[in-house]
Amino acid sequence: MSIKQLEGQTFGRLTAFGIDRSKSKKSAYWICKCQCGNEKSVRSDHLIQGRIRSCGCLLVEARHRSNAFKHGMKGTRIYRIWVSMKNRCNDKSYKDYGERGICVCEKWQNFEGFWEDMKEGYTDALTLDRKDNDGNYCKENCRWATMAQQSLNKRNNHIIEFGGERKPVAEFCQEFGINSSTVYNRLAKGWAPVRALTEPPNKGREMVYYVINGEKLSRPEVARMFKIPASILWHRLNEGWGIGRATSTPVAYRTHNHLE
Ligand SMILES: [Zn+2]
Repeated sequence: MSIKQLEGQTFGRLTAFGIDRSKSKKSAYWICKCQCGNEKSVRSDHLIQGRIRSCGCLLVEARHRSNAFKHGMKGTRIYRIWVSMKNRCNDKSYKDYGERGICVCEKWQNFEGFWEDMKEGYTDALTLDRKDNDGNYCKENCRWATMAQQSLNKRNNHIIEFGGERKPVAEFCQEFGINSSTVYNRLAKGWAPVRALTEPPNKGREMVYYVINGEKLSRPEVARMFKIPASILWHRLNEGWGIGRATSTPVAYRTHNHLE
């Protein structure tokens, strides 16, 4: 049996420094020094495959972190953001809407990994934003953003001036027969009221987003999240329904019985 020469090599926190002659003859064991100061005898193949990367201190630390979260983070806003992100991405019905499958990176499958990457700069006023909307949920593609669209939540108070009148946006929208989400989106982008209210919608190119549970979502994502057929959600929003009503009103499927 050949003994792989591992002396001086580092695997995770372990550095191999000598063969452990007291162990079985079937496999080579290396005595390793852990960064934490402990020594541990490890099978060479386990070292090479990366199965063992510390004296055990890594696992202990991970458990501590995980326990800390179990008691500290559940129920917080950022925890809910993480849960909703994962639920949406793991829901296979997403594909039914013909959308591209957006994934959550491996590290973020656990809340601890998500927290480690995203805790910096987080406040309850910010939303999770993907830089590339077709990209995945991972550190490189995500940031915390102030969403002007959070004003969507306060839409009833959103008063603008147009044509010498000061009125809530919603009233202007009804008057002009324009989808209010489009107008809020435009105002959030800094458009002047006159342009926001009068320019015809550029269908397809003008993406509309909604902020739900602290996350910026496109319409197909909203439809999927609330399990509403996309066509019905579209119809409701285009009729001027608010996002709350459009997502919470049950879908009434007509049958022959109902029509009789
Ligand atoms: Zn250790």
